[in-house]
Amino acid sequence: MTLREQSDTINLYDLTQEQLTALLADWGYSGYYAAQLWSYLYRERLTDFAAMPALREDLRQILTTRASLQQLSIAAATDSSDGYTHKVLLRLADGQTIETVLMNFEGRDGTPRATACVSTQAGCAMGCIFCATGQMGFFRHLTPGEIVAQVLHVQHMLAAQDDTLRNIVFMGMGEPLHNYDNTMQAIDILTDHKGLTIAPKHITVSTVGVVPGIRRLAADKRPFRLAVSLHAATDAERQALIPIAKRWPLAELMDACQEYTARRKRRIFFEWTLIAGQNDTPEQAHALGQLLQGMDAHVNLIPLNPTLEFDGEPARETAVQQFQAILANHNLPSTVRQRRGIDIAAGCGQLRAANSKE
Ligand code: SAH
Ligand code: SF4
Repeated sequence: MTLREQSDTINLYDLTQEQLTALLADWGYSGYYAAQLWSYLYRERLTDFAAMPALREDLRQILTTRASLQQLSIAAATDSSDGYTHKVLLRLADGQTIETVLMNFEGRDGTPRATACVSTQAGCAMGCIFCATGQMGFFRHLTPGEIVAQVLHVQHMLAAQDDTLRNIVFMGMGEPLHNYDNTMQAIDILTDHKGLTIAPKHITVSTVGVVPGIRRLAADKRPFRLAVSLHAATDAERQALIPIAKRWPLAELMDACQEYTARRKRRIFFEWTLIAGQNDTPEQAHALGQLLQGMDAHVNLIPLNPTLEFDGEPARETAVQQFQAILANHNLPSTVRQRRGIDIAAGCGQLRAANSKE
């Protein structure tokens, strides 16, 4: 068991239900008490041991001295002008800051589909030139508890508007497969059916293409969705946008993706940030069609969102339409992602903790 201890207390948000049960057993309490505590944490979402009514007093004492429920404090909060997107800058125990976004999408039938966009790292080591997080560099991995606390934070925001969380996308700051173990541990906690019960099919993990991580996922039993950020279908173009792509050329990446679809019998979503004149050309669309030929794939096209240190322009409407038409000719389904929160820099790739610890 890997218990993460901070200032001599165990952050209970780091633990799966099984680990919490083992911890309480070490302290001499049966599974009944672990189940009760788990329910307080994730069903009732109580954040203070003192406020848990039926907790045994002796257990409360132990928890108060040896355990904690580390909350993330709000350093800043902004709402988009259309009211759909809420971004919070959250401060971690060591002063690092990360961003979490709540997006209210409308489902096909018009019902709200609240989505939490969560971070897995403070900063990112992958260095994609068009991404605000990549531009800030890497600070550290987040713990499972810090990932879980972001979702709980969003749940609290939603409860205030009488709504509940449906989807989680790991598309905030950082590269989830570079922080594989902590991300998977957080997913286990979030999907626990006696806790928050987020359906795995409503979780999307997005990767820039960390090949060893995709291979591990191919052998993994967790049924969430996988999204792979491609952005270019030829090595030279891809490496110009994503420095880490030099380590895993397209042939290797596609081989890992094939392994994933073959073993998991699951579709992969490929993300493509459309940058005018760079990767929105008919040549790239044809190359993409060929690259994904015969694969169970869906392409998500994201017109570039502005960031401070990259002066590319989003693809024009006509280029986007032409790009989609070429993909359709290759029998490749695609969607243009709804733009959300651009005015508060909470769109894809715009997250950047402005006052991150230097
Ligand atoms: N590190 C992961 C997940 C976080 S980024 C990944 O790269 O997949 C989430 C998505 O936002 C990725 O597809 C990423 O390429 C995209 N993105 C990054 N910067 C962007 C920008 N400036 N405009 C539009 N999309 C961007
Ligand atoms: Fe990291 Fe993803 Fe941004 Fe690339 S796009 S720098 S992998 S967060």
